[in-house]
Amino acid sequence: MSLLVVGSIALDSIKTPFGAVSDTLGGSATHFSVSASFFTSVQLVGVVGDDFPPSHVAFLKTRGIDCEGLERAAGDTFRWWGEYGQQLNHAKTLDTKLNVFETFRPALPKNYCKPTSLFLANIDPAIQWDVLHQVARPGIVASDTMNFWIQGKRDALLRTLKDIDLLIINDGEASLLADECNLIKATREILTMGPKWLVIKRGEYGAVLFDGTTFFSTPAYPLETIRDPTGAGDSFAGGFMGYLSRVGKKDGATLRRAVVYGSVMASFNVEGFGLDRLRTLTRQEIVARYQAFHALTAFEAGPVLFDEVHEVHGKTHAV
Ligand code: AMP
Repeated sequence: MSLLVVGSIALDSIKTPFGAVSDTLGGSATHFSVSASFFTSVQLVGVVGDDFPPSHVAFLKTRGIDCEGLERAAGDTFRWWGEYGQQLNHAKTLDTKLNVFETFRPALPKNYCKPTSLFLANIDPAIQWDVLHQVARPGIVASDTMNFWIQGKRDALLRTLKDIDLLIINDGEASLLADECNLIKATREILTMGPKWLVIKRGEYGAVLFDGTTFFSTPAYPLETIRDPTGAGDSFAGGFMGYLSRVGKKDGATLRRAVVYGSVMASFNVEGFGLDRLRTLTRQEIVARYQAFHALTAFEAGPVLFDEVHEVHGKTHAV
C-alpha cells in the first residue's frame, strides 16, 4: 500500500494569541504526510527552494516519508504568513509568496505511478490535475483546496473536482465554492461538481461526512490547550487518508472511522506550534485518543419515551 500526496511545502510565519514563529516548517503536504505517516507509507511530491533547510528533509525521512518526489529548485521556498484571533477558528492570511511553486510542473518518479491512494493537498489545482493524470487510477482520490484557489483558479479547480472521489474542505471554503451560505445546500451543490463524498471540517465544531444521502457528524475533541491551529485541516486529511490506505477499504463504516482518525490527528496538531506536537506523538497516544473519542460520542438510544410511539416502532429505539 502507498499513499501519494502532492501539495505545498512551506516556511510558515504564524501568530496566535499564544505566541509567534517565523519560517517554521509547514505546508499542506508536510502536515498531511507527517500525520499520515503514523498509519501508512507516504510518497511526497512537491518543491522547495535552495533556502530550504536540509534538516527539514531529514525530519520527513525519519518519519519514513519517501522524498524522492521532492524537488529542489533554484529560488525561494513557498512562504505563508498567517494570524489567528482569540477565536482560533479561521486563519487570516497576511501574505502568500508562491516563489518556486509558480513554475513547478511535477514529473513523478517511476515508482510513484501506481499509488493505492492519492491525496491532492492544497496547492494550485493545475498541479493537482497534472499529478492525477500521471498515475494509474488509485483506489481513492481525494483533494483539498482553499479560498486562494477557489477565487484565483476556479476553472482549473472545477476541472480537478470532476475527477476526484472525495473532497475535504472547511465550512467557509464550502460556502465560497458553492456560493451558498447554508452548509447543507452547499454540500449538495458541491457533489454535483464531481466528488462522490464530501468531508466538511468545521474547526472547533468538528467534521461532517456526506455521501449525497446520509450525514455523519463528529465533534472536535475537547481540548483545554490549543496553541496553533495551522495544519489542523491537513493533519485531519492525513489521519483520514492514512487510515483508509492502511485498511484498504472505503465502505460507509470505514469512512466514518476515518473521520474520527482525522479528528484525532487534528486534535494533536493544534496542541503545538507548526508540526511541534506531531514530532513527539506516539501511536499509543493516537489509540488512546481514538478510544476517548469513542467514549465521547457513544450513547445508547434507550427505551422509546412516548407510549403511543411503542405501538408503531416497538419498545426500544433502533440503535
Ligand atoms: P490548514 O491545514 O488549512 O491550516 O493549512 C495550513 C497550511 O497551508 C500552512 O502550513 C500553509 O503553508 C499552507 N498554505 C497556505 N496558503 C496556501 C496556498 N495558497 N496554497 C497551498 N498551501 C497553502
